[in-house]
Amino acid sequence: MKSALLVFCFAASALAWNHVGHKAVAGHAYDLLEPGARARVDGLIRQHPDFAKLTEGGPADEAARMRFAFIQAAYWPDTIRGDLRFYDEAKRDTVPTAVQPGFPDMGQRKNWHYINVAFSTDGTAIQPPPPVNVLSQVQWIAARIGNAPKPGDREDPVYLLPWFVHLVGDVHQPLHCATRYRKGQNDPNTGKPWSDLGGNTVNVVGSYNLHAYWDDLLGITDTPAYIEGVIRALAKRPAEGAAELDPAKWVDEGAALAQSTVYSFGNEGGGKENPIDFTGDYRIKARQVALDRAALAGRRLAATLNQKLR
Ligand SMILES: [Zn+2]
Repeated sequence: MKSALLVFCFAASALAWNHVGHKAVAGHAYDLLEPGARARVDGLIRQHPDFAKLTEGGPADEAARMRFAFIQAAYWPDTIRGDLRFYDEAKRDTVPTAVQPGFPDMGQRKNWHYINVAFSTDGTAIQPPPPVNVLSQVQWIAARIGNAPKPGDREDPVYLLPWFVHLVGDVHQPLHCATRYRKGQNDPNTGKPWSDLGGNTVNVVGSYNLHAYWDDLLGITDTPAYIEGVIRALAKRPAEGAAELDPAKWVDEGAALAQSTVYSFGNEGGGKENPIDFTGDYRIKARQVALDRAALAGRRLAATLNQKLR
């Protein structure tokens, strides 16, 4: 049981900024919302079919409760991976679960969380990213988030808001933008060159893998007090780049950072027998980059919502 739970936690942590990262980005953004946008955001969250879950354990004060709900909503798209009401629509022979009131369908949408912009430094052939990815979805939602609610519709901004908060966070984690191909890294079934799945197949010392290491850089203590500390730290980061509201540029930045910083340890593959052992300088730089990306995510999320929900 214990090991099953551990495996689940590792698997979850290997998929996205962890709870702390997503919630801190959301809290930072919420604090920057203008009154009109904040009122509309609150109105959307209040109508969410899982609003009771989003406010569970939250403060009694109404304003604090709505901020709490927004912060919880940031992690909602990850919680549905372990929620039996939802199903993996991309799995072969999958059986859809019953559509619950207020939802358009119960798909987990795992392919919405990242875009695999591929690169190689050793001339290995690379593949383009699939057409549905974090960039396509952020752009698609941004164009609809200001519309009137349409309960049960796939374009319903009530349903899409937690996704938007979450995905703007994800797209600022460099390993949600990039994946590396290298010689000798082949699909065991086809023998063809294979990507490292955004660092998920790269073993590192002291962490589950390269992707999880980057997901966890803002900390792993999922308590309101800790998350408020991270939100304060994000608010102190420089504001440079915050006015860039084109999601395609966010992906370009993330893909560039992956090459310049995330994979700065070299072309080693990080096999099971040879995990990458980061230098102290790498770890310091990684933490700074993660803080800067999360701060930018929060500011850009707030600016976009201020623009679309004015
Ligand atoms: Zn995610």
